[in-house]
Amino acid sequence: MNEPSLPPSPGSREHVSLDLVNSEIHLPAGVRRDALETPESTTAWLVERGLVGEDAALQSYCQNRLSGLRGHLREAFATRVAGGHLAPGTVEGINAALAAAPNASLLHYVPGEGFFRSLEHPATRLVEHAMSVIAEDAVALLAGDESERLARCEAEPCMRFFLRTHGRRQWCSVRCGDRVRAARAYARKRAEAGSSH
Ligand SMILES: [Zn+2]
Repeated sequence: MNEPSLPPSPGSREHVSLDLVNSEIHLPAGVRRDALETPESTTAWLVERGLVGEDAALQSYCQNRLSGLRGHLREAFATRVAGGHLAPGTVEGINAALAAAPNASLLHYVPGEGFFRSLEHPATRLVEHAMSVIAEDAVALLAGDESERLARCEAEPCMRFFLRTHGRRQWCSVRCGDRVRAARAYARKRAEAGSSH
C-alpha cells in the first residue's frame, strides 16, 4: 500500500527549521520518505519554500551540507524535548550555518552612480544563504519562549517534531493519533478475547 504523505505538523509552516527536520519521515511498514534524497529533490524543497530561485540547480555537495544541518537541528530539537547530552559539534554546526552567508545588506560604490546597498547572494552561495535563514529560524526557536512548546510525535514510528497547540498534544497529526488509538483498541480487544477463554 502506498502510504500518503503526512500534512505539515503544527508549527512547521511558521518555522522552516522544523520543516527541514521533518523533511525525512518514517511511516508505518518501514516506509521512509526523504525530501533531500537527491540534488533535484533538495532543490525542489528549497524552491517551494522560496529559499532559492526557481532556476536554481543544486549539486550533491549542497544537498549533503543541507542534510548535515538537518542532522544538527534534529539533535538540538531532540535534546530540547527530551533532555540529555547534546552530540559534540551540534552547536558549532548550527552556528557555522548561521554565519555561512552575510545577512547584512552591504554598501557598494560605483563611480558615476554613487552608493547603494544590496544583499549579496552570489550564485555559488545559494545553499549557504538558505542554510543561514534556516539556522536563524532554529536559533530563534531554540533560545526563545516558543521552545517550551516543542514536542515530538509519540506515534511510532513517526517522531516528527511540532509545536504543541494545547497542553498535552502527543501527536503531530490526526492520522498519527488515530493510528495509536486504533492500535490501543486492537490490543484491548485481543486482551479481552484472551481473558474470555
Ligand atoms: Zn506523527
